[in-house]
Amino acid sequence: MTFAINAVYFAVAVLFILGLKAMSSPVTARRGIAWAGIGMVLATIATFVIPDAKGSGPLLFHSDKLINLVLIVVAIIIGGGVAAYLGKVVKMTDMPQMVAIYNGMGGGAAALIAAVEFSGGNVVGVIPTTLAVAGSFIGSIAFSGSVIAFLKLQGIMKKAIALPQQNLINIALALVTLGLGIWIVVAGANPYALVLFFILSLLLGVFITSPIGGADMPVVISLLNAFTGLAVGFEGYVLGNPALIIAGIVVGASGTLLTQLMAKAMNRPIVGVLFRPITGEAQAGAAIEGSMKEVSAMDAAAMMRYAQSVIIIPGYGMAVAGAQHKVYEMVKLLEEEGVTVKFAIHPVAGRMPGHMNVLLAEAGVPYDQIFDLDEINSEFPQADVAVVIGANDVVNPAARTDKASPIYGMPILDADKAQQCIVIKRGKGAGYSGIENQLFYAENTSMLYGSAQQAIGDVITQLKTLI
Ligand code: NDP
Repeated sequence: MTFAINAVYFAVAVLFILGLKAMSSPVTARRGIAWAGIGMVLATIATFVIPDAKGSGPLLFHSDKLINLVLIVVAIIIGGGVAAYLGKVVKMTDMPQMVAIYNGMGGGAAALIAAVEFSGGNVVGVIPTTLAVAGSFIGSIAFSGSVIAFLKLQGIMKKAIALPQQNLINIALALVTLGLGIWIVVAGANPYALVLFFILSLLLGVFITSPIGGADMPVVISLLNAFTGLAVGFEGYVLGNPALIIAGIVVGASGTLLTQLMAKAMNRPIVGVLFRPITGEAQAGAAIEGSMKEVSAMDAAAMMRYAQSVIIIPGYGMAVAGAQHKVYEMVKLLEEEGVTVKFAIHPVAGRMPGHMNVLLAEAGVPYDQIFDLDEINSEFPQADVAVVIGANDVVNPAARTDKASPIYGMPILDADKAQQCIVIKRGKGAGYSGIENQLFYAENTSMLYGSAQQAIGDVITQLKTLI
């Protein structure tokens, strides 16, 4: 039996790794999700038939465990049912907060497993206790931090909240919690110490995430993701479950790489995000001169139709409007008229890593038409028209020039360097970091006001009259 279970876990590990590999390209991502999902189902089934510690038979058939079995099955039905329902009904724009809360569930589950194992007196020996403590610590931070991230992305928590001397408080809290953890490892799991340890760890997650806002959010979201992976991996060791260890390592490693990529995209060291976070509060940057020039859908259509090259920059507003299909319809019309059209994607555009790539893939945009910031930025000066659709922070030149700006230093897409720039948005609304954008006031920028879906629809109508 043990050999068969280990063989299944091995197959599960292969499925997780191949699944993750497949997820790295939009072409194969669906397949990757399916493989990882099958791996998860196999791992769950195999876990039901693990012989118990005394070797007296599979968990499924062992009378001592039957009561747990019922609870487990009920939890799987409720949790699986809710997840399947939410997965179907969630709007694409609400996806980031759903990912945040699911990530928190993973961290919370890892911490709860440790709590159960401690309370049952099942964690024995220095290494398992150390890993259980480490998993509880990181898992609790991932849980409470992800709940805060969820509240922010959902718009329930509107402001970043920081206590005076927040950094000092966080460092002191982390040291006290870790000290308590060491004491648990050395002196054994006393229930009072454990409860305090969990409370302090949860509090630390809240304190770390609450002050972070604006453009730093992508970094903290991927950091919490890496934390969850690590916590799951540690608890996998405590439970002696290879599938959990591998799943945890895979998530932890990919989350760490994603954190590095996001931090690089924001040009912010991770330590800077944690200790000098962008608060999301609008700050007084340099005064902006000039006025915004409005254009009609007809003018915008003509500018694009008679251009040789157009670069489209999608942002969060395109996601909110669900305008990706209309955008691609417009692009195809332009291409039929001989215009070269490329898409430029900023790594933090939208509200989750890869947000724009997912939307454009859904609309059927070929992958070779989509370019990352590094690949396309040098092409803007030669582009006739840059079309900014519901993007704001990712094209804000203040990031290059205004040292007082909270996004100073973040690489941006150089839409302002194109010959002409058309910005499609509903009005004068700010971006996620709450700051003004001098691009909208530039000499070569024209504003086409309207919700992206409607505005692009109007441009398509006008384009058809020009063809
Ligand atoms: P922004 O949030 O900066 O700007 C979006 C713009 O879209 C707004 O100015 C808004 O203006 C406009 N808009 C909103 N609704 C519509 C609509 N229906 N039609 C047309 N326009 C609309 O988006 P960006 O993509 O440029 O930048 C992403 C920001 O989010 C960055 O600051 C990033 O750090 C942050 N972030 C990113 C995460 C990630 O992982 N990618 C996670 C969390 C935060 P108006 O109201 O006038 O229409």
